[in-house]
Order: sequence, then structure tokens, then C-alpha cells
Amino acid sequence: MLTTDNYECTWDLYKSIPSLSSKDKTVFNETVKFNEAHKSNAMARLVDRRHAKVPVSLMGFSMQDRMELLKISNSHDDMLGASYITDWLSPAFFETEFWYMWATTFAFQPWHSAVEFKRYLHRFMLEFSRIETLAGVKRTIYNQYDSLARSLQTWLEEHGVCFVMNCRVTDLDYKSEGMMQSV
Ligand SMILES: Cc1cc2nc3c(=O)[nH]c(=O)nc-3n(C[C@H](O)[C@H](O)[C@H](O)COP(=O)(O)OP(=O)(O)OC[C@H]3O[C@@H](n4cnc5c(N)ncnc54)[C@H](O)[C@@H]3O)c2cc1C
Repeated sequence: MLTTDNYECTWDLYKSIPSLSSKDKTVFNETVKFNEAHKSNAMARLVDRRHAKVPVSLMGFSMQDRMELLKISNSHDDMLGASYITDWLSPAFFETEFWYMWATTFAFQPWHSAVEFKRYLHRFMLEFSRIETLAGVKRTIYNQYDSLARSLQTWLEEHGVCFVMNCRVTDLDYKSEGMMQSV
């Protein structure tokens, strides 16, 4: 998934990469056009074990969940260190509608990094208001490999970049101010 409210560097790059399916369009233009025609509007964002629709107009937070979320959200990276999300949020949080929607949008697991979780909270704060429909989510026309990776690879090859597949990098040299350095 992508959004057009974030991903500034990605879109900046893809504003100059031609689409593989219509050469007169950039990947950015074709993706925006596709998402204007096909808007995300989930009608059953969560379903329970009996396949019944779960009401998602509320996030399901208790006051304790809110306090804990605020605490992790306001913590500096060095305070969070190598801790897990579960080090900051109580078991009940992982049963909230919010957690199920957030975790399935961004592929989070409770044991994932607390720093990563905090950064996603900050970066995608805007999605709080529309996570129950996924209205902010933008998709590429094809899967991300075919829409993004292949178009970029083709453009790079056309500009002389040589891709060497099935190899392992064990060392690299780079040129700095006219000198060859080894790292
Ligand atoms: C489950 C999951 C879902 C995600 N969903 C999304 C999403 O919906 N939207 C989104 O924007 N992001 C998503 N992400 C995050 C996104 O996939 C990563 O941020 C992105 O792939 C990072 O790209 P990268 O090129 O830096 O690293 P990678 O994609 O990890 O690429 C690194 C490559 O280098 C190769 N490599 C490593 N060491 C060597 C070596 N010594 N020699 C040669 N090759 C080597 C690896 O094999 C790999 O192919 C998701 C991540 C996960 C795990």
C-alpha cells in the first residue's frame, strides 16, 4: 500500500519514470489516475471468526490504551531502544479494533520494534480518521514489483545501468573526490 500524503521521495522519483504500459505517462500519473477511478472504501474492514462484520466506527480504546499510546508516541527513539511494542502496550490493547486495523494495514505484529511502531504512528497519523475504510490507501495498477520495480529497472537499464543477478556482495569500493577508497 501507498498513500499520496506521504511517500514524498517515492513519488518524486516516479514523477520522472515512464510507465511501462503507457509510455506517455509517468508511473506517478498513471497511479494517481488509477486511484481516482478506483477509490478504496472498505465496507467490511474487520470480520470475526464467524465471518461476521465487526463494527469499526469506534477504535475500542480504554483510557489506559489511550495513555499508553500517547506515551509511546511521545517517546524518543533512544528511550524506546530495542524494545518491543508489547513492552509499551498492555495485552488489552492488542484486542482493540484499532490494533486489528492498524496491524493489518501496516503488517505489524505485537513483537515488532516499538521505534518502528512509533514512527508509523507519527507518519500515518492522518490514517486514524479513515482507517476503517482505508480511504487514504493508494494502490499501484499491478503488484508493486510490476508497477514500481520493473518500470524503474527498465528506465535504469535504458540509461546504462547493468544489473547483475544472483550474486552476493561481500565488499565494495566507492569513489570519493576522484580517489578510489575501500570500505
Ligand atoms: C510484511 C511487510 C509488508 C510491507 N508492506 C509495505 C507496504 O505495503 N508499503 C510500503 O511502502 N512498505 C511496506 N513494507 C516495507 C518495505 O517492504 C521496505 O521498506 C522496503 O522493501 C525496503 O526496501 P530496501 O530496498 O531498502 O530493502 P529490501 O527490499 O530488503 O532489499 C534489500 C535487498 O538486498 C539484498 N541483499 C542483502 N544483502 C545482500 C548482499 N550481501 N549481496 C547482495 N544482495 C544483498 C536482499 O536479498 C534484498 O533483495 C513492508 C514490509 C514488510 C516486511
